[in-house]
Amino acid sequence: MPPTVTTQASWTEGPEAEAEAQAQSAKAQFESTASPESGFSPVLNQDQKDIRDWVHGFAADVVRPAAREWDEREQTPWLIIQEAAKIGLYSFESLAQFYADPTGITLPVAFEELFWGDGGIGMAIIGTTLAVSSIFGQGTGEQIGEWIPRCFGSVDEPKVAAFCSSEPNAGSDVSAIRCTAKFDEAANEWVLNGQKAWATNGGIADVHVIVASVDRELGTRGHAAFLVPMSEATGITEGSKVSKHGLRASHTADVFLDDCRIPAEYVLGGKEKLDERLAAARERATALATPGAKRFTPSNPSMATFEASRPAVGAQALGIARAAYEYSLDYAKEREQFKRKIIQNQSVAFTLARMKMELDAARLLVWRASWMARNGIHFQNAEGSMSKLKAGEVAVWVTERAIQILGGNGYTREFPVERWHRDAKLYDIFEGTAEVQQLVIARAISGMRIE
Ligand SMILES: Cc1cc2nc3c(=O)[nH]c(=O)nc-3n(C[C@H](O)[C@H](O)[C@H](O)COP(=O)(O)OP(=O)(O)OC[C@H]3O[C@@H](n4cnc5c(N)ncnc54)[C@H](O)[C@@H]3O)c2cc1C
Repeated sequence: MPPTVTTQASWTEGPEAEAEAQAQSAKAQFESTASPESGFSPVLNQDQKDIRDWVHGFAADVVRPAAREWDEREQTPWLIIQEAAKIGLYSFESLAQFYADPTGITLPVAFEELFWGDGGIGMAIIGTTLAVSSIFGQGTGEQIGEWIPRCFGSVDEPKVAAFCSSEPNAGSDVSAIRCTAKFDEAANEWVLNGQKAWATNGGIADVHVIVASVDRELGTRGHAAFLVPMSEATGITEGSKVSKHGLRASHTADVFLDDCRIPAEYVLGGKEKLDERLAAARERATALATPGAKRFTPSNPSMATFEASRPAVGAQALGIARAAYEYSLDYAKEREQFKRKIIQNQSVAFTLARMKMELDAARLLVWRASWMARNGIHFQNAEGSMSKLKAGEVAVWVTERAIQILGGNGYTREFPVERWHRDAKLYDIFEGTAEVQQLVIARAISGMRIE
């Protein structure tokens, strides 16, 4: 079990009503403990140190030793997910505890440690989080109580969940989503059709959160997120599994929805709320027809999920980068050429100095954004995007430099730095590419439409 800390939110599996009550209490605690007065400090408190050390222990003892094998196998490491479930790391209880910290720092600290162990296995363990965040953020109390435990399964039979927004022609441009959800009044069911692409855990997940268009005329504001259980729903199938450059222990696949029918209540937030939201969006669409109206409004199910998750994604990149930095520092202090340690050459030593500085700078941006998000402080200058952009770029640069410091060894699969470099590259791409993050920041600081 995770170390007990003062901010802990309790959660156990149990009868539905109890689970729902616990979910609501976790949410209430989450909302009540946040306040801008909780202050920002880059010095970890004892609770945060305990969690950091606990996750680090698992990363060092279980994850890191298995990393190469699962990268080569390109398969989901179910046994390691189960090990994480056994110690309580793979559970909503842990996630709720990380989120509940009023400073917002515990979650990135924990993710950094896990991904220090390995990016691919780290993603296999936390890939479920995106769907869980979406359910937690947008679901009703009843949905949270019922579906979040399903996302994790049990210790004996762990499950994973998938968040499916991207499509073959809708990656950066979520407004291009073509997957549709039509309501069949007679059957009181939603009917989903379309194809989802690059879904982490797509097809192997028990719970799929599918973003679909309910009213295409409204663009992203006509989108809604739907809960699709693989074991119950008909018409949902896994497409081809994607063979990847990095993060290869994490499963990525297309998902097909072919007249996939789910009950009316499986829309996140409930149908009544969706109908109200669509009515407001239609009114807004009319208002936007007015010349000069402000157009850029990112609030929709995909953007809401991605915005909230950006600092946490940055923390993952940081973990990979820190692993490469530490490894190459040790190597440079051991390896001798020209009768001296290679770190005694300024070019190597200065590179390591810059690696450390960039890592610390990225971490401060990640922690700041996480603290702001947790305390409801508006991202006025797209601080969430800044944190993810910086951490992704630092991870790619640091891991590339680590290969250089290891020379020929760095380029071989006998040493882990080439894997870390392959893993790091994803952080320039998914959950908003580096270019899209710059676009978001540029729009935020200028208040202008920038294409
Ligand atoms: C391993 C992996 C896991 C993933 N997991 C998930 C998941 O779980 N769920 C999910 O929904 N999606 C997932 N994705 C999809 C991911 O979010 C998309 O790949 C990403 O958003 C980029 O979209 P795209 O690949 O279509 O690239 P494109 O949007 O086609 O972009 C291609 C290039 O054009 C640039 N570009 C595009 N538009 C602009 C612009 N306006 N200005 C400047 N440059 C621009 C981009 O920055 C990029 O360099 C995953 C992807 C990968 C590779």
